[in-house]
Parts: sequence; structure tokens; C-alpha cells
Amino acid sequence: MNAAVTTELQTIGHWIGGKSVRGDSGRSGPVFNPATGEQTGEVTFASAEEIDRAVTTASDAYTTWRHYSLSKRGELFFRVYQLFDEHRDDLARALTAEHGKVLSDAHGEVQRGIEVIEYVCGIPELLKGAYSEQASSGIDVYSIRQPLGIVAGITPFNFPAMVPMWMWAPAIACGNTFILKPSEKDPSASILAAELLKEAGLPDGVFNVVQGDKIAVDAILQHPGIAAVSFVGSTPIARYVYETGTKAGKRVQALGGAKNHMIVLPDADIGMAADAAVSAGYGSAGERCMAVSVVVAVGDAADPLVDAIKSRLPAVKVGDGLDPTSEMGPLVTREHRDKVASYLESGPAQGATLVADGRETAPENGGFFLGVSLLDDVTPEMDAYRDEIFGPVLSIVRVSTYDEALRLVNQNQYGNGVALFTRDGGVARQFQFDVNVGMVGINVPIPVPVAYYSFGGWKNSLFGDRHIYGPEGIDFYTRTKAVTSRWPDPATSRVDLGFPQTR
Ligand code: NAD
Repeated sequence: MNAAVTTELQTIGHWIGGKSVRGDSGRSGPVFNPATGEQTGEVTFASAEEIDRAVTTASDAYTTWRHYSLSKRGELFFRVYQLFDEHRDDLARALTAEHGKVLSDAHGEVQRGIEVIEYVCGIPELLKGAYSEQASSGIDVYSIRQPLGIVAGITPFNFPAMVPMWMWAPAIACGNTFILKPSEKDPSASILAAELLKEAGLPDGVFNVVQGDKIAVDAILQHPGIAAVSFVGSTPIARYVYETGTKAGKRVQALGGAKNHMIVLPDADIGMAADAAVSAGYGSAGERCMAVSVVVAVGDAADPLVDAIKSRLPAVKVGDGLDPTSEMGPLVTREHRDKVASYLESGPAQGATLVADGRETAPENGGFFLGVSLLDDVTPEMDAYRDEIFGPVLSIVRVSTYDEALRLVNQNQYGNGVALFTRDGGVARQFQFDVNVGMVGINVPIPVPVAYYSFGGWKNSLFGDRHIYGPEGIDFYTRTKAVTSRWPDPATSRVDLGFPQTR
């Protein structure tokens, strides 16, 4: 038989009330395999009415989930941990299939997400309040942490499993119910997470996924039943989500874009700095909010550093993320690849030196590939410096002194991550004191904090006042109540119109 092979498009829908829901808005968008350029699926986009149905479901579930004891919640999260651990490879493959990152990198993403689940297994300890006995005569004061209600998360394409886990794990462990709106570019990992949470025993309706675009986001921001919104994505949308959500009376944390600098001082080990710049600049094809985008070469470090980086580039293997020998995959969409490649035109036109041109080294198979690219002699007024880029284009800015390097970082509109490479502990200590950036690496190029600290930038990299996951995540998803109590002898009771005194 000579049957024609047809690849069937997968339909990716919502997850509401513990089951998959196809969606009835009539709107949808394509999902691609970035390594081949082929469309592999079609994702449903939610309407405002469908968001409303998800909120009703989450609200019903809240009435029971709120009463789950801390020990039952902790026990459940141990099961969640175990299942995600067992399904690492399934999750990683779902990421590679739609995002394009190489499988080893996808495993890294899953691991960093699982660490947040591990952290919230200790939820009874994390939700402990304070107790002050005899705050005044016969009076005790104590604080308790309570959930907010229904909270929502809106997430970017570049970490389709980990960033949602930064949100739903602490939010649910704190007693909230959750609605996730993942990126429409790589929506499948969230459905897989929903299935695993159900298998772990999470009651239906506690975790819901609504797929969609701006219409879904706006419906979330306006819905009176949603108490808080966590957002991670680009700075213009983060600002919009923060302003719109807070105006509607919600608690909002909105993490935005970045332009991460790696300063290399003349005393640094140049080989080690070059290894770090190549790893952190081109890992995940530069599509990380903590990617190194600018190497700031100070004084005499510049020439040997550029030579050392350049010499490492031909060895970087670019290819399909499922090929175990690939070190860097494609970009997420054709449009994004073309936008990133445009800096290889505008950079030299504005005076930069094109040292490596990734258009010449990209695999040509229809996938959204761009090879590793290096621009030298970049200056702060060039587009390549001013824009986030979010691709495998590393810029070198040459400065004369440490002070000049520090000024450059502090004047930048973003303040997500920064790294300093030096052998001088005194300078490093001064740097961590002086720099206006939320996450600092000393000889560490990608300083993503471990799960028991919190993640967040400064300036235009974060709108709101709480960083995400870790202790600040617990703060964000709870509100405290202070209780003042006394058990006096009724015989001592009298009317007293004075303001209560503590002595
Ligand atoms: P994005 O801002 O385009 O999209 C993020 C989310 O917002 C998606 O769910 C998307 O559907 C939604 N969205 C997009 N346009 C919208 C609009 N006009 N109105 C309402 N909602 C809208 O970001 P992205 O391209 O998916 O992700 C890359 C960006 O995310 C980069 O800027 C990167 O630095 C940033 N990021 C930041 C962090 C961090 O922790 N600070 C982490 C990861 C990614």
C-alpha cells in the first residue's frame, strides 16, 4: 500500500476543573517546531467568557482548598515533586519540541523549576507566623498568613515550564487557587504540568490553564474575582500589566526584560571569562532573561578577551535540540530570528565591528536558526546596545576604567542581572555595594538565585515590590493578619474611651 504520510496538527486547548477543555472562542494560533520550521499544532485562544468560567471553577475549588491542612498540602507537594522528577524527560522534550532549546538545556530548566517545588514542600515552616506573649498586660499578639484567593500567572515563551513553576508552586502551596496563561508560542508544557498535578492528587479546579493572547490577558487583568497577578515577559507588557492590574485593585508583580552586562577587569582570568561569556551569551540561543548580552571589557582586558571569545565560536555546535551533540538550538519563531539578525545590519551601519556573522553559519533546513554572532566596538548609543535583542548576538563594549564600567551598568534602564569577573575580592565587594542591579554574579555569569532566595531585577526589569519565588514569593501570595487577644476576668471589665495603650 502506498499511503501518503500526513502529519496531523495537534490541537492544544485549556485545562479547567481538572480536565482538558477544547475552547469555543473560534480563535487560535499556530505552534511550530522551531528546528524544522514546520507547524506542529494549533493552540486555542480563550475569550473573556472562558476566563470567567475558569475563575468560577477556581473560586469553587478555593472553598475546599483553603481548608486543606498544612500537613496535607506539604504531603501533596512531596508527591508533586516525585512525579515531576519521574517525568523530567517528558517535560524537557515538550520544551524542546516547541521552544527549540537543546534537550540538555531543557533538562536544566526543568531542574530549576523542580527546586521551587522542593522548596514549597516545607510550606508548614514557610507559613509560620509570629507570636508575642504578654505584649501588654494579659494581652497576646500574633500574626497569621492567609491566602489571597484566586491568583493568575502570565508567562513568557522562553521558560515554558520553569517560570510557571516559579508561580504556581508557591501560590498553590500558600492555599490559593491558580489560573495560568502560558505563552501562546509553546503552550504544551503547561498542559503536561496540569496532568501531573492531577495525578499527584491536587483537587480539580485548584490549577487551571487558559491559553490565549491579549484578549485573555486583559480579561484576567479586569476580572474582579482575581486577587493577584504574577507576570513575566518583556518590559512594555510588564509595565502595562502592572498599571492595568493595580488600577483594577489587584496585587501585581511584573518582571520585565533585561540587558545583562558582564564586566571583565584586566586582572581576570581571560580564558575563564571567555568561557563564561560564550556559555552565558549563546546558551538557549540568548533567549534567557539572564543571558549575558554585553561584555564590558575594561582596559587591557579587551584585545585578549575578544580574541579568546572569537576563538571559541567555531566549536559551538548549532542544530536541532533533539540531537544530543547540539549545543545551541534555533530561535523561537522566524520573525524573532529575523529581528535578531537585523542587529547584524544595524550594528556595523552604526559603527560596530562584525566579528562573527551567524547568518553565515546557521544550518539551512527551514528551521529558525541563527549562528553565534559577535559585535565588537559597540557603544551605548547603538541599537545593538540599547535593545534587549534576546538572541545569539553578543556585544563587546570597551571602556578604560572600572568606574566607567560601573557607570554604564547603573545608567542602563534595566537592572536584572550583572556579572563581574576579577581576582580582586576588594573590588568585587565594592561592586556588589555600588551596582544598581537585582541579581549580581561574582565570577558567575548567570546568577539566578537558588530556590530559597528570590528572583527579581531592579529598575525597568521589575514593576511591583516583591521578587518572585523564595521568601518574597511566599509574601506575595499571602496576606498577614495580626490578632490581638485577651482573656480577662469579666469582673475587671469597665468602659474606657481612651485610645488603647500598650503599657
Ligand atoms: P512577551 O512580553 O511578548 O509575552 C509575555 C506574555 O504576555 C505572554 O503570555 C503573552 O501572551 C502576553 N502578551 C504579549 N503581548 C501582550 C499584549 N500586548 N497585551 C497583553 N499580553 C500580552 O514576552 P515573550 O516574548 O514571551 O518573552 C520574552 C521576554 O520576557 C524578554 O523580554 C525577557 O527578558 C522576558 N523575561 C523576563 C524574565 C524575568 O524574570 N525578568 C524571565 C523570562 C523572560
